Amino acid sequence: MPHTLLLAEPRGFCAGVVRAIDVLDALLDAEEPPIYAFHEIVHNRHVVDGFRARGAVFVDTIAEVPEGARIVFSAHGVSPEVVAEARERNLRVIDATCPLVTKVHLESRKAAKDGFDVLLVGHEGHDEVVGTKGEAPDRTTVVDTPEDVAAVVAGDRPKFVVTQTTLSVGDTDATIQAITSRFPDAEVRNDICYATTNRQAAVRSIAERAGLVIVVGSANSSNSVRLAEVAAGTGTTAYRVDGLSEIDPAWYEGVDVVGLSAGASVPDSLLEPIIEDLRARGVTRVEPVIVAEETIEFRPPSELLELAEAAGTELTSS
Ligand code: SF4
Repeated sequence: MPHTLLLAEPRGFCAGVVRAIDVLDALLDAEEPPIYAFHEIVHNRHVVDGFRARGAVFVDTIAEVPEGARIVFSAHGVSPEVVAEARERNLRVIDATCPLVTKVHLESRKAAKDGFDVLLVGHEGHDEVVGTKGEAPDRTTVVDTPEDVAAVVAGDRPKFVVTQTTLSVGDTDATIQAITSRFPDAEVRNDICYATTNRQAAVRSIAERAGLVIVVGSANSSNSVRLAEVAAGTGTTAYRVDGLSEIDPAWYEGVDVVGLSAGASVPDSLLEPIIEDLRARGVTRVEPVIVAEETIEFRPPSELLELAEAAGTELTSS
């Protein structure tokens, strides 16, 4: 049974997720429910269920939202089409899109306007990719793997490369290399965010020393799934779980050192029962493995600040 637990640092909540959660939290404190959110506010089942219990309603289409209602756009961002539909329905929007996702939207929009074809490296169908592609749907091709590059229509326009923010750093390098091999003049922006990069470096660091790595995060959380893949890529055994109840204690047999990390949408409270359970099983040493210090914070959305000003309150989360 394990005697040592390595804790990846950083792990868990990033600045964009904290901001989106704070927005919904503050609105649920300040206004009568329901408060609508377009898609899950962040990709974590526990966080979403908690908000649902307080009166948040998560929708996948604007048509589901009553005229004039309050709606929050989630951290993953939305396409201009969704923004327009919300405006037509007179919805009172607070946009909690992570500023680092907004940056990719702006890059794509400008590149298309400047005459480029946009190659968006990312996972087709992921909320963030759907939103970014929506900036220039006719000019954007989603490229998921190096193998996809051969199928890109060459066309006459130069190519501009952007990426989803939560991809595997290593896999993305390979895809970008395949793109620049075929289109040597392509302009490349690698948009993998600081939180994704740091969490992957930290999980790799613990995985190199652990016989087993557990990553906490939901199945629809791209960055959590990537963390488990990065850990497994070092040759160790790695599992992604939503919480303690999904851990099979048989995984610990014959393992001396366990590593633990969590995706960017995961509260640390979900890791505490796992740590306690490991202590009860005989872990005597808990070692944080720090690869980066994070100090980034994002300002609340301007709409929330205006709302607070109008109400003459500090509209802060509880
Ligand atoms: Fe923003 Fe990165 Fe967090 Fe996504 S993972 S919300 S891009 S900081």
